[in-house]
Amino acid sequence: MASIFTKIIQGDIPSYKIAEDEKYYAFLDINPLAKGHTLVIPKKETDYIFDLSDEDISGMMVFAKKIALAIEKVVPCKKVGIAVLGLEVPHAHIHVVPINTIYDIDFKQPKLKFTGEEFEVISKEISSKIIA
Ligand code: AMP
Repeated sequence: MASIFTKIIQGDIPSYKIAEDEKYYAFLDINPLAKGHTLVIPKKETDYIFDLSDEDISGMMVFAKKIALAIEKVVPCKKVGIAVLGLEVPHAHIHVVPINTIYDIDFKQPKLKFTGEEFEVISKEISSKIIA
């Protein structure tokens, strides 16, 4: 069965898309730790990130870099952090999160709530800052 993230890539489940290319897809995390919290995923469904080929995992990081540079133009922050957990959704993903303190990327923190309209605005803002 296709993962929830594969269904997002295929458009069967909606997402607040930030960007995509032929191999990778980025969209807002629906339970964000911070405004702009984004997930970067490979289009080819693979559960464990370290099962990706060298080429695919390095390409994913280069793609995540573009997203991070766009996020920091929209969300004031000290840095953009990344984290990989993958305990919930069995489709490799990198969390890309604007941070000011270590607590901003602590997954035990309560998640933020945004309306659909707010998610839409955030995704469009970040998307517009991506440099190809
Ligand atoms: P983990 O697998 O532990 O890295 O966590 C999976 C992440 O995916 C969580 O932060 C969820 O909020 C996020 N997530 C799960 N379903 C969706 C969805 N349909 N759209 C956006 N984010 C999601």
